[in-house]
Amino acid sequence: MAFTPHDVQNCKVDNCFACKCATISFSAAATPGRKVETASQVQDEKRLVADLDAYKRLRKDGLQPPATKNAAALERLATTKTEIERGKVYGTPKMAREIETNYKQLKADGVLA
Ligand SMILES: [Zn+2]
Repeated sequence: MAFTPHDVQNCKVDNCFACKCATISFSAAATPGRKVETASQVQDEKRLVADLDAYKRLRKDGLQPPATKNAAALERLATTKTEIERGKVYGTPKMAREIETNYKQLKADGVLA
């Protein structure tokens, strides 16, 4: 069966359904079964890859971040091992050092696991 495109140019039907079908442009996202990446999905994926890469590097350095999520930011901003292992960046490197000292003490005292 040959497909004959509807002749939109010469169609005389008012409010013609076939014309609408012929001229409507489906947005890529509305087309099922087709992998469409929106800008935000691309961003999410880039972030995910950056997090996974950072996580692997940190693990290789003998550090254990609590999760892969946000590992890139942690790697970039943390100045102490404690920050990496707690998954939290403290205000300033000085603060981070003090917190790390206290944290190690609490661990040594058996207050923290
Ligand atoms: Zn028509």
